[in-house]
Amino acid sequence: MREGGSIATGVRSEGDLVPDIEIVLGRNEHKMCLTIEEPEADDGVTSEKDAYMASVLARYWKSLVERTKHHLGSPVNLDFDHDALGQLLHFSINNLGDHSRRFEVGVLDWFARLWELEKDEYWGYITNCGTEGNLHGKYFPDGILYSSKESHSSVFKAARMYRMECVKVSTLISGEIDCADFAAKLLLNQDKPAIINVNIGTTVKGAVDDIGLVIKTLQENGFTDRFYIHCDGALFGLMMPFFKSAPKVTFKKPIGSVSVSGHKFVGCLMPCGVQITRLQHINALARNVEYLAPRDATIMGSPGISAMLNELSSTVVFERPKDEEFICRWQLACKGNIAHIVVMPNVNIEKLDNFLNDLDQKRESWCQDEHIQPPCVAAEIGEDNCNCVLHKN
Ligand SMILES: *Cc1c(COP(=O)(O)O)cnc(C)c1O
Repeated sequence: MREGGSIATGVRSEGDLVPDIEIVLGRNEHKMCLTIEEPEADDGVTSEKDAYMASVLARYWKSLVERTKHHLGSPVNLDFDHDALGQLLHFSINNLGDHSRRFEVGVLDWFARLWELEKDEYWGYITNCGTEGNLHGKYFPDGILYSSKESHSSVFKAARMYRMECVKVSTLISGEIDCADFAAKLLLNQDKPAIINVNIGTTVKGAVDDIGLVIKTLQENGFTDRFYIHCDGALFGLMMPFFKSAPKVTFKKPIGSVSVSGHKFVGCLMPCGVQITRLQHINALARNVEYLAPRDATIMGSPGISAMLNELSSTVVFERPKDEEFICRWQLACKGNIAHIVVMPNVNIEKLDNFLNDLDQKRESWCQDEHIQPPCVAAEIGEDNCNCVLHKN
């Protein structure tokens, strides 16, 4: 189980700190460590201690409220109300031989239905997180794992843990898997089955891989019956079903498993994720493939600030702000020259307006004070979206 990657303190889940992904956060990580003072053995005055504890918690509560106001960089929904479940915290459910399994199966049935797999054809469980789903979703250890280089670190962690051969596939500017490169790499490894990790929302750019195109590429390169697809839906797996125009994540296509994180869209406070797979993977591979309509990867740019929003995404990628304090304040996750904010259900227009006003003002002062030009981010988000001196217009 992972340690709670508390967003409020700016510390992200362990998976995001693995060097593969290189998400660099604000400078607050180690500085916010509290010192722990052991009480004296005969330190008896209880009411004083209680008052002290209450003040520590009250300050923490206040800082959480403050941090929540500026929470934009992490893909975690803060709009939740778990009060109804509070009453259950009085029980040690693990140890009471209870009926919680009924709840679990109910939840799994719901997800199997969402992803269009019959009740008697699926197998699944509630995981601890999206990472665990990704670890689980890599069957066929004799195959080679293919995943785009912008995949979450947990995918590559799975390859290391299982000692699987792993091939990183290039990405398009949008962050989607580049199927031309995928085809080239398949051709180099025709003797081994292919296990593919398909991203339903990448961590940094919120890119959604084109499952239809991935399947087509496999088939056109002689892998018709020799592939297994795991869909990493940790980020957008729970958002896609509500887009009318989005391609469906569905077991009607020859995919093998899907996982989501409970921490992202649902905003679950407990370690939580969902993993659904087929009881019979092999039967599935023979099924008909439903091709997707050609993808229209429209990328939008906004004037002034270099920015990109993928079509199926709520992750806005933009130029990295110049000022670490600003990055810290808005809890932005940065990678090289780019940063992102993730618009989760709790983010409203007011919060975004505040952010943009703040960014606008600060940006002006950065440029004036230090004669700094906004960075060129053409390599990361494309020339069309880049507003540096060179690529303006
Ligand atoms: C967050 C994330 C994960 C991991 O989910 P956790 O619940 O944090 O373990 C996996 N893949 C992607 C794309 C993610 O954004």
